[in-house]
Amino acid sequence: MKLQEEINKRKTFGIISHPDAGKTTLTEKLLLFGGAIQTAGAVKNNKITKSATSDFMEIEKQRGISVATSVMGFEYKGKLINLLDTPGHKDFAEDTYRTLTAVDSVILVIDCVKGVETQTEKLMEVCRMRNTPVIVYINKMDLDGQDPFDLLDELEEKLDINVRPLSWPISIGPTFKGVYNLVDKNVNLFSSNKTKIERDVVTISDLSDPKLDELVGKYADQLREDVELIEGVYEPFEKKEYLEGRIAPVFFGSAVNNFGIREMLDTFIEIAPNPKAREAEGKEVMPTDENFSGFVFKIHANLDPNHRDRIAFLRVCSGTFERNKFFHHVRLDKKMRFNNPTSFMAQEKNLIEKAFPGDVIGLYDTGNFKIGDTLTEGENFMFQGIPSFSPEIFKEVVNGDPMKTKQLEKGIAQLTDEGVAQLFTQRMGNKKYIGTVGELQFEVIQYRLKHEYNATCNFHPLNFYKACWITSDKKDILDEFVRLKSNYIVNDKDENLVFLAQTRGVLQITMDNYPDIKFHFTSEMN
Ligand code: GDP
Repeated sequence: MKLQEEINKRKTFGIISHPDAGKTTLTEKLLLFGGAIQTAGAVKNNKITKSATSDFMEIEKQRGISVATSVMGFEYKGKLINLLDTPGHKDFAEDTYRTLTAVDSVILVIDCVKGVETQTEKLMEVCRMRNTPVIVYINKMDLDGQDPFDLLDELEEKLDINVRPLSWPISIGPTFKGVYNLVDKNVNLFSSNKTKIERDVVTISDLSDPKLDELVGKYADQLREDVELIEGVYEPFEKKEYLEGRIAPVFFGSAVNNFGIREMLDTFIEIAPNPKAREAEGKEVMPTDENFSGFVFKIHANLDPNHRDRIAFLRVCSGTFERNKFFHHVRLDKKMRFNNPTSFMAQEKNLIEKAFPGDVIGLYDTGNFKIGDTLTEGENFMFQGIPSFSPEIFKEVVNGDPMKTKQLEKGIAQLTDEGVAQLFTQRMGNKKYIGTVGELQFEVIQYRLKHEYNATCNFHPLNFYKACWITSDKKDILDEFVRLKSNYIVNDKDENLVFLAQTRGVLQITMDNYPDIKFHFTSEMN
C-alpha cells in the first residue's frame, strides 16, 4: 500500500483530564467500540493516588502496566487509531507533556460537577503551545452537575479557547434524559448501560415535532429553548478552525454508562487530523517524505532488574520504518537497526515488520536513547519540540555508599535520560542537583537506584524556587552574569546554562536588572 494511504488511515491522539474526570473509563469504552477489548474492566487504571512510600511497589506495578497501556491501537470504521496514554497525577505531568508532543490531537475530559480543574488548565496550555486540535467530552452527566451553558463559559474563560457544542444534554443528573445531536438532529435517549454498546436513536428533524414531548416530557421545551440559544450564540462549527486549534467541539455524555461516546467517536473519525508535519531543525518534515524519520518521546525501564534494557517509544513522523534496516541515530552519529520492534495493538505487544507515520513503536534499548532523540534514514536533523519544563523542587544528590559511586552515576545518568527528573551540575564544585516537578520522583529515583543499580543515595533539600535556562545575544553580559551569580548557575545535561532563582522575588528582580538576558521556562529555547 502506498505511504499516502497508510497515512490517511491513521489518527494518533491522547486523552487528557484532571485525575478522576473519567479518562480511564473513556479509554476503556473507546477500546470496546474499537473491538480491541471484549469486556469492561480490562483497562487498568494506572493512576497513583497516594504519595507515600508504601506506594513504591504500586508505582512499580503501574510502570509495568503502563508499558502495556502506554499506547493502545485499535481500528474503527476502517481507521487505525493510536491512543497514547497520559498519566494524570501531577507529579508525572512532564511525562504527559512529552507524550502530547507525539499526538496529532487530543480529547479533553471534563467532570461536569467539578468543571475545569488545575491539571486541565496546565494540560491545555501545552496543547495551545502547539495548536493541537482539541475535542471536549463533558462527562458524568448522570450526576448533578453544573449548568451546561455555565460549563461552556468556564471552558472558554479558563482554557482560553472557543468552544462549540455539537451535542446538547436534555436535563442533567437524576433526570438526565439523553443528548440531542446538533449536527445530525437526532435524540439519543439515555439508558444506564455499563457493559454493552447499544444505541437508541430517534431522529427529530424538527424540534417542534410532538414526538419530542413524548420522549422527554417536560424537558422538551427546555431543549427547544436551549437549541435556539445555541444556534443564536455560537457560530456554525468549522472543521478548519478546529484543525488550527482555535475552536473545540464539545460533546456531553456519561462514560461509565457508555453514553454520548459514539457521537464523539464518529465526529473524531471525521474531523481529527491524520499524522501531521513536524518541525525539525531548519525544516518541516512531511509525513509523506519517502525517507523514514521519528523521535523518542518516552523511555520505559524494564521491570525485571536482571534485564537492564529499556523500551524507547518512538513516534514515526515520515516514511516507512522497517525491522532490521539500518537507521541513523543523529545525536550519537551511529547506525542502528532493530531486531524486535513492537507495536501495541489491542493492548498486546506484537513484533512488527513495518511502521508508518502516526505509529508509535517500542524499541528495545540498552542505553543508547534519551528523550528527544531522532532516528532518520541518514539525514542529520533533530526534531524540535520535546521540552523540559522548569523544575520546581530541587535536591542535592548525596552518595550513600562511596563504594558504589560508579553505579550511582550511571543510575542517575540513565534515569534522567528517561526523563524521570532533570540533572544539573554545579559549574563550580561539581555538585549534582536533581530537579523535578513533584516530590514523588525523588522516591521513585531512590527506589530505582537501589533496585536497578544497587546504589544508595540521599537527598539534601535545596531552597530554590525555579530553574530557568538563560541565553543572550550579548556574550559579554552573559559571561559577566554567570561570573557574578556563579553560586546559582548550573549546567543541564546538554551543557546549557541554567539559573537557579531562590525566590519568585529574586527571579523578578534579576529579570528586571538584566534585560539583555533571556530567561526561558522550558528548555525549548526558540
Ligand atoms: P481518571 O482518573 O480520569 O482515569 O478517572 P476514572 O475513569 O478512573 O473515573 C473516576 C471515577 O469516576 C470512577 O469511579 C468512575 O467509575 C467514575 N465515572 C466515570 N465516568 C462516570 C460517569 O459518567 N458517571 C459517573 N457517575 N461516574 C463516572
